[in-house]
Amino acid sequence: MSKLDWLTQEIDGLKEQGLYNRIRTIGSAQGAWLTVDGKNVLNFCSNNYLGLANHPKIVEAAKEATKKYGVGPAAVRSIAGTMDLHVQLEERLAKFKGAEDVITFQSGFTANLGTISALVGKEDVVFSDRLNHASIIDGCRLSGAKIIPYEHNDPGALEDAIKDNLSKYRRALIVTDGVFSMDGDIAPLPDLYEVAEKYDILFMVDDAHGEGVLGKGGRGIVDHFGLHGKVDIEIGTMSKAFGVVGGIVAGDKIIIEWLRQRGRPFLFSSAVTAPDAAACLAAVDLLEESTELVDKLWANAKYFKSEMKKLGFDTGVSETPITPVMLGEAPLAQQFSRELFEEGVFAMAIGYPTVAKGKARIRVMISAAHDNDDLGKGLDAFEKVGKRLGVISNW
Ligand SMILES: *Cc1c(COP(=O)(O)O)cnc(C)c1O
Repeated sequence: MSKLDWLTQEIDGLKEQGLYNRIRTIGSAQGAWLTVDGKNVLNFCSNNYLGLANHPKIVEAAKEATKKYGVGPAAVRSIAGTMDLHVQLEERLAKFKGAEDVITFQSGFTANLGTISALVGKEDVVFSDRLNHASIIDGCRLSGAKIIPYEHNDPGALEDAIKDNLSKYRRALIVTDGVFSMDGDIAPLPDLYEVAEKYDILFMVDDAHGEGVLGKGGRGIVDHFGLHGKVDIEIGTMSKAFGVVGGIVAGDKIIIEWLRQRGRPFLFSSAVTAPDAAACLAAVDLLEESTELVDKLWANAKYFKSEMKKLGFDTGVSETPITPVMLGEAPLAQQFSRELFEEGVFAMAIGYPTVAKGKARIRVMISAAHDNDDLGKGLDAFEKVGKRLGVISNW
């Protein structure tokens, strides 16, 4: 027996249950098509909603910034690592989103960790949607606050939890995903806000999958619902629709000021590089110039979903371009994904613990980078594999 034997057993267990993730390697730029493990395949996996990850204007901005600034920031933001590009980006994002102020972090993940743990502590309570993203859950745990999960997207359940618990704690926070990344449904933000307002509780939404997707020209979920100045904190990411990397916290001036003093990933970890920041600025330029890419994304998503339904697939409750193809058991989802890959389509299976047991699926991520031909090829492959595996009927 060695002290590492337990790991071998755990990993073997994952393999037996069809839950072992074999990570594929990309050998090309992100786009509608990818080189994956050496094979050219249709990309139905990435969060590159608008096709910006390889957009010529964004690549050019990163190149120019590298020439002027080099690459790394060489210090944490609060010591000597705040470049003018970082400040410009925060100003531009605040304007774009119609928020009082913005602070950026290295990622959406660190934005959640840093923000939640700076706003609540062990005398406090967080009311958290049961299906919130792992980074929200980790942020809540890190804060030491009492975590009270409420039923998914259920403002009534939230209010009941508040009534039962609020008086026992010093401060409270309500936190929800904006777009739920596995099902593609949208949080009922106006109703949740009503509850937050009634009890005067801090209200935070993590709009990672809505940034660049929801709202006018991709201005996010707060814009989508017209809740400017009402949602206290809106988290976003520049790693998805923006096509780059970095976390966004938009909100009230005083909250952002506090995060510059007490957001631990801001204080103790270096920021994104100069080319990253310049690339994000170029993404804001593109989104401000035109809504064309966002419109194309939604048109593609509508078309793909309606064709999948016609074929007989269950695409769940999605209201966004995220398209889950519900398959049930994890081994079936994994086999489906492998056979799609054989057909030249890259679409990942998602199983427990990312989604509940028995709710395994293929998650298709539609992008503005896809053209009609691409979507047609994808639909053909789904039809073929679906019939072969008995997921949809043969006639
Ligand atoms: C992807 C995602 C994150 C993490 O964003 P990164 O910038 O990749 O760290 C956080 N929250 C939600 C809801 C997400 O979907």
